[in-house]
Amino acid sequence: MQIARVALPVPIDRLYSYTVPEAMRTWMRPGRRVIVPFGKRKLAGVVMEEGAESDIKGFQARDILDVDVTLPPLPEELLALTRWVATYYMCAWGEALRAALPPGSASAKARTRVQMVAMVDYNEEGPEALPRGDRQRAIIEQMRIWHTSERTPVPQQEVLAECGGTAATIRRLADLGYLFVEQEERDRFLEERSDIETSSRPTLHPAQKKAVDAACVALRAGRFETFLLHGVTGSGKTEVYLRVLEEVRVQGQTAIVLVPEIALTPQTVRRFRARFGDDVAVLHSRMGDGERYDAWRGIGEGRYPIVIGPRSAILAPLKNPALIIVDEEHETSYKQFDPAPRYHARDVAVVRASRNNAVCMLGSATPSLESLANAREGKYTLLEMPERVPVAGRPARLPRIRIVDLRNEPELRGSSDVLSRPLLEGIDARAQRGEQTILLLNRRGFAPVMECVDCGWSPECPDCSVSMVYHRPLNHLRCHYCGITQPPPRACPSCSGRDLAFQGTGTQRLEAELASRLPEVRVLRMDMDTTSGKGSHDDILDQFGKGKADVLLGTQMVAKGLDFEKVTLVGIIRAEAGLQLPDIRAEERAFQLLVQVAGRAGRADLEGEVILQCLDPGHPVIQFALKHDYEGFAQYALSTRSMLTYPPIGRMVSILFSGPDDAATAEAAERYRRLLDNHLPDVDRLGPSPAFIHRLKNRYRYNIVLKVSDGVPASRVREGLRSAEKALGSLPHSIRLTIDVDPAGLS
Ligand code: ADP
Ligand code: ZN
Ligand code: ZN
Repeated sequence: MQIARVALPVPIDRLYSYTVPEAMRTWMRPGRRVIVPFGKRKLAGVVMEEGAESDIKGFQARDILDVDVTLPPLPEELLALTRWVATYYMCAWGEALRAALPPGSASAKARTRVQMVAMVDYNEEGPEALPRGDRQRAIIEQMRIWHTSERTPVPQQEVLAECGGTAATIRRLADLGYLFVEQEERDRFLEERSDIETSSRPTLHPAQKKAVDAACVALRAGRFETFLLHGVTGSGKTEVYLRVLEEVRVQGQTAIVLVPEIALTPQTVRRFRARFGDDVAVLHSRMGDGERYDAWRGIGEGRYPIVIGPRSAILAPLKNPALIIVDEEHETSYKQFDPAPRYHARDVAVVRASRNNAVCMLGSATPSLESLANAREGKYTLLEMPERVPVAGRPARLPRIRIVDLRNEPELRGSSDVLSRPLLEGIDARAQRGEQTILLLNRRGFAPVMECVDCGWSPECPDCSVSMVYHRPLNHLRCHYCGITQPPPRACPSCSGRDLAFQGTGTQRLEAELASRLPEVRVLRMDMDTTSGKGSHDDILDQFGKGKADVLLGTQMVAKGLDFEKVTLVGIIRAEAGLQLPDIRAEERAFQLLVQVAGRAGRADLEGEVILQCLDPGHPVIQFALKHDYEGFAQYALSTRSMLTYPPIGRMVSILFSGPDDAATAEAAERYRRLLDNHLPDVDRLGPSPAFIHRLKNRYRYNIVLKVSDGVPASRVREGLRSAEKALGSLPHSIRLTIDVDPAGLS
C-alpha cells in the first residue's frame, strides 16, 4: 500500500490521505493503527482503505509516521460497525474508531506498546570452570541451581535482584558462553489475572431451562434474535448466561458479556472464570494502559473467545461474536456522554449482533421502558423468570418491604439526623445476630429541588411532568425541559405548610450519625471518596463479605450485583430521593434503584427485610416498588411518556451549546433554533433553555431537545441537523455544539 486513507479522531467526517514510507508498506492494511502528522500535531488514526494517486493530487501529502504492527488490524466487521456508530450518533468515523482501539492507546503520545523483557537461560554446553569475578561467579552458581530445579529461563531483572550486578555483567557472561539472553514479549494482562476456582453446575430450574433453550435454538440456527430476559433479582439470570455461553464454546464460537462497571466485582468475575477459565478476558477501568493494550491484542489474536467488560467492551476486536449478553441492560452507564462517540452500548450490542447473525440477550430485573416496548412490539423475544431460585427445596421469597413514614418520627423533626428508630433497631438486631445490613443513600436526590418538609410535595412543571429546579441567584423555579419559570411558593400548595426546604445529607454525615447512635456497630462506607484508589472498591466488598463489618453504607454503588449471604436488612434512607429530578427518566431510575437494592436482602436461606424511609409513602413509584410490581410501574410510566411523546414512544436528540460567554452562547443556540424551523419543520422541539447544569467548568450551556415521533426517519433528522449546522456557519471558536442522540439524561 503506497497511499493510505486514514480516519482520524477529529470532528470532521472525512478520511485523510497519507503516503506510506517504503519500510511500512508490507505492514499497511485496513484496520491498522497508525500515527500521522496533522497540522502541527500528531494523531493516532486507523487506516480505512488503500488510496489512489488522485487522492493526493494538488497538495504535498505527508508520510505516515508510525504503524503499530503488534496490534492486530481491526477486523472488517468492526470497521463497518464503527461506521454505523459514527453515522447514527453523528460523530466522525475516527472518533468512533477511537472507542474500538485499546483504551489508552487512542492518543498519539500513548506509550502502550508491547513490552519486551530479557530472559536469561543457562547454557549447559558452556565452560565448566566458574568465571573469575565474584559477581559473575555468584550469578552462574545461582543460575545452575535454578537450572537444575527447572526454573530457567529467568527474567534478567530477577537474576540481578537476587545476585547483584548489572545488565553489563549478564552481557559479559553471555559473551563468555555461560548464558543465553533472549528478548521475550511480556503479557501484562496475563500477569494480572487471578487464580481460577471451580464451581458446581446447578441443575436448571424450569424457567431457566426455557430461557437457555430458546437462546440455544437461535444460536444453533445462526439466526439473529434479541431476547429480553426479565428475571427478578436472584432468579438465576447469571446462570442462564453461563449456560448459553457454554453452548457458544461447544460450537467453538465467541461472545461478549457487558456488565455495568460497578458490577465488575471479584464475585462476578469469579463466576465466569470458574466456568470458562482462561478463555475469559476481563476488562475493567482499573486496568493500566499496558494491561489493556495486551488484553486487546490477545482478543484480536483470538486468544480469548469470551470477553467480559463494561460499555467499551462492545467494540472489542473479537472476531464474529455469536452471542452478546448485556447484563443489567437498564443501566444508564451503558451510555457514553463525553467524549464522542456518544453511543449506547446496549443499542450497539443489538446492532452488532444483527450484523453477525448473532444472539443478543438483554437481562434485567427492571428492564428499561425502551426494551420493554421493543419486546411488546415483537422486536425482542421476552423471557420471564418471575421467581427467585429456590433454596434447599423451599421457594425463596422476595424480601418483605416495610415503610417508615418519616412524618411519624418526631425525634427527627428539626434535627439533621436521618435514621429512624425502626431502622436503627433493625440494624442493631442484625449486628447482634451476626447478620448484616446495607444502607443506601441516593445522592442523585440531592439536587436543589424544593420540597415541603411536612408532606413531601415538590413543584412540578405544568407542561412537562418533571420537577422544577430552584435557582437561588434568581430566586425562581425553572423547568429544564421547556424553560418556563415561576416564583417559588411561600407556602406548600398541598398542605399549606410553611417549611419548604432542600433535603440532603452526605454519606460521611450518615456514618457519623451511625457511630453516635450505635457505637458498637462496625461500618464500612462505600462512595466516590472511599473507592477512588485502585482495588479499593474490591477491598471494601471483600472485607464486608468476610464479615469484618455489620453495615455497608453507600451511594448507588451498593445497589448493584452484590450477593452477600449474611445481608438480611436493606435500609433506604430516603426512598423518594431522585424522584423529583428534572429528568423524564427520574421515576424510572428511582424505581429501578429501589428494586435493585431491595434485591440485596435475604438471598440465601435467611429471609430478608427492606426498610424504606420516606416522606411520601403514597407516591405511585414507592407503592409499585413496595409490591415488587414492575408491570404496574411500566404501565404507569409508559402512559406519561406516551402522552408527551417521550422515549420509548418517540426518540430524543439533545443539542448542547456551550461557551465561555453566557449571552453569546444563548444567542448561538437561539439562532440554531430558528434554523431548525426551516430545516426540520416537522420535528417538535423544546428550548433552547439553560442546561440542568447551566455553568460547567466556566462554560455556559444551553439545551435544545428534539422530540422525534416514530414517523420521522432518523436519517431525515440527521440531515436536518447537519444542514442547519451548515447554515449556522462557523461559530465563534470558543462556542461548541454537541449533539447527543438518544440522550440518557440531564446534561
Ligand atoms: P440473578 O443474576 O438473577 O440475580 P443469580 O444468577 O445470581 O441471579 O442467582 C442467584 C443465586 O442462585 C446464586 O447464588 C446462584 O448460584 C444460585 N442459582 C442460580 N441458578 C440455580 C439453580 N438452577 N440451582 C441452584 N442454585 C442456583
Ligand atoms: Zn406540604
Ligand atoms: Zn416544562
